[in-house]
Amino acid sequence: MRSTSGGPRVLLRRLRETMAEQVSAQERLDKIVVLIAANMVAEVCSVYVLRVDNTLELYATEGLNRDAVHMTVLSAHEGLVGLVASEATPLNLSDAQSHPAFSYRPETGEEIYHSFLGVPILRAGNTLGVLVVQNRAKRTYVEEEVEALQTTAMVLAEMIASGELAALAQPGAEPAARHSIHKTGTVLSDGIALGHVVLHEPRVVINNYIAEDLPKEIKRLDAALVKLRADLDRMLERGDVADGGEHRDVLEAYRMFANDQGWSHKLHEAVATGLTAEAAVERVQSDTRARMLRSTDPYLRERLHDLEDLGYRLLRQLVGQDHAPSREHMPDNAILIARAMGPAALLDYDRKRLRGLVLEEGTANSHVAIVARALGIPAVGEVPNAPGIADPGDAIIVDGTSGSIYVRPSTEIESAYAERVRFRARRQAQYGELRNKACVTKDGQPIELMINAGLVIDLPHIEDTGSAGIGLFRTELQFMVSASLPRSSDQLALYRTVLDAAGNRPVTFRTLDIGGDKALPYMETVIEENPALGWRAIRLGLDRPGLLRGQIRALLRAGGGRSLRIMFPMISEVAEFDTAKAIVERELTYLRQHGHTLPARVDVGTMLEVPALLYQLDELLSKVDFISVGSNDLFQFLFAVDRGNAKVSERFDTLSSPIMRALRDIVSKAKAAKKSVSLCGEMASKPIGALALIALGYRSLSLSATAHGPVKAMILELDAAKAETKMAEWLAAPAGSFSMRQKLTEFAESEGLAL
Ligand code: PEP
Ligand code: MG
Repeated sequence: MRSTSGGPRVLLRRLRETMAEQVSAQERLDKIVVLIAANMVAEVCSVYVLRVDNTLELYATEGLNRDAVHMTVLSAHEGLVGLVASEATPLNLSDAQSHPAFSYRPETGEEIYHSFLGVPILRAGNTLGVLVVQNRAKRTYVEEEVEALQTTAMVLAEMIASGELAALAQPGAEPAARHSIHKTGTVLSDGIALGHVVLHEPRVVINNYIAEDLPKEIKRLDAALVKLRADLDRMLERGDVADGGEHRDVLEAYRMFANDQGWSHKLHEAVATGLTAEAAVERVQSDTRARMLRSTDPYLRERLHDLEDLGYRLLRQLVGQDHAPSREHMPDNAILIARAMGPAALLDYDRKRLRGLVLEEGTANSHVAIVARALGIPAVGEVPNAPGIADPGDAIIVDGTSGSIYVRPSTEIESAYAERVRFRARRQAQYGELRNKACVTKDGQPIELMINAGLVIDLPHIEDTGSAGIGLFRTELQFMVSASLPRSSDQLALYRTVLDAAGNRPVTFRTLDIGGDKALPYMETVIEENPALGWRAIRLGLDRPGLLRGQIRALLRAGGGRSLRIMFPMISEVAEFDTAKAIVERELTYLRQHGHTLPARVDVGTMLEVPALLYQLDELLSKVDFISVGSNDLFQFLFAVDRGNAKVSERFDTLSSPIMRALRDIVSKAKAAKKSVSLCGEMASKPIGALALIALGYRSLSLSATAHGPVKAMILELDAAKAETKMAEWLAAPAGSFSMRQKLTEFAESEGLAL
């Protein structure tokens, strides 16, 4: 290494001694900058700390004017220091003043220094400050020096994160490490929760950063790498790659990285600077995380995630900490934070203590979001660097109404939210009072309100909403939350439990709607360019009839002696319905021949989700016992907008006249054919959507349990005949009045309906 005195190992040893000294925080910082400057043969060493007001304050310096300490404050993007902070990468310049970002602060006296090396002070992907060395001579710092400074920055990161520096700050200008954070993501599940952070994958706690015996640390690192590679090989060879929900391709990617010389080299380099093996892994992780946060390329981000996961495995191996978070130590109001999470993992937590969920990934249609909604836990997804922005035990608010989260909120924010929670609880209690009231409009028209369900945890909602039954039971959820294909006995047991819970109320079971975006981890995945239009739902069921037959048999057996309703998803032509219904007939014959008790009655119907069915309605209605409109898919196919793609999913209004006309045709034809018709898409779960549907003539809706109260409250105040007359007028008007939202809102206002 060039011209450093003693190298990074000596520096780290001295730092360790300084950290252990009983001195004030300022004295410690002052000593540290002197040590670094001497060790790196630099004339200047300065520490800038990122403050809550998003500025960078000079906290200590060797070489610059000492009067500037705590006086020089840069905006977060100002100058070279700001650039290092905002880019979260080192900046190594031989002639700093010729850099376009250079900004001159006379009070520091730094104009005489030409070369500049700045590194971010990073912790869990967050920038906490910037560490800088400068030299008078024009020189480029060599790779080893950059490494050494980054390593030193890690020690400083721990010091800042410990809160030790807060005593040196003016009120309102504290270090940002522990400041309030407000982030916005996407709503996964409605509701508001206040609680304390639990990290789904707890950060591995490193107690010892600085190596005492270097050869020993290298040996530990090598041994951990060998074990990591062997574990991955074994998992891949065993073939049971579904284990733990991991896909083969993810494991393959892990193995590739684990054998990557670049990664191994970086880890060894970090140890060579004097870190312990675990601290070296964290150093490299910190870079990976910072790169990931800056990268906008989804493929690269995915690979960096893989690399990060792999680093965690290695860390756990070195520190010997268990993978699973300690559930016993869950606070009573736990808010779970994870990068990504499967539905089964969420169900593993104690429901009574779980109040909310925050994910770095996860969209509204993801399985974990479905489970969060079923559990009634507010959840927000797509929060950048979610696991890095809070420490376990931090106060946090999850606002699943707007998609906001607040970490370490101010008392004002906290009390405002506490008030909103009380308000919502009062309103919930009011809805509860409607539970036993007949669901009839003000002008006496009965409306059947049912719930959408899919998991055992949904079943109590039948009772607590006072609903008329289950209008859509999504059977695929059992398959999606299982680690392996549910056996027929598991399916049978679930369907029986559901029918028992419903008692005399009807349950409409939808056969498996898998494929497309609803992939099962244990089934061979077929890569498709357009999964929503691909090999899914009934298409898959008819092509692989074994699975469908088995499910239908389980349904028919569960329905023995009672009424049963079976519904097929994604039917596109009448012939598909005929084939699927023939399977039901065949299974009935089989069960009869084998002496099973048959259902007292079986109704067979279809979802209406594919626009082609709109032009086969007469024939279809002559064959089905009932239809249920899947407005989520019908909308996406009518408008050709991907319902899961945030860029386009809101582009057109679900209350637009083309949709209204399609829905009107369906309900009027069904009525003429004397077939029951319902709607089970998200539209029915919004009071304004339900209002539109009743105005179109729908008298049966299936909605999420949480929407039951607000929708019922609206119905009880509604004059349905008046709404129908209005809707007929609006539909007859010439095109141009595209969305009906405005008209419906005005109508609701004039009628005093709460939407
Ligand atoms: C729909 O498409 O409207 C529907 C209810 O089905 P899913 O949301 O499960 O696709
Ligand atoms: Mg659908």
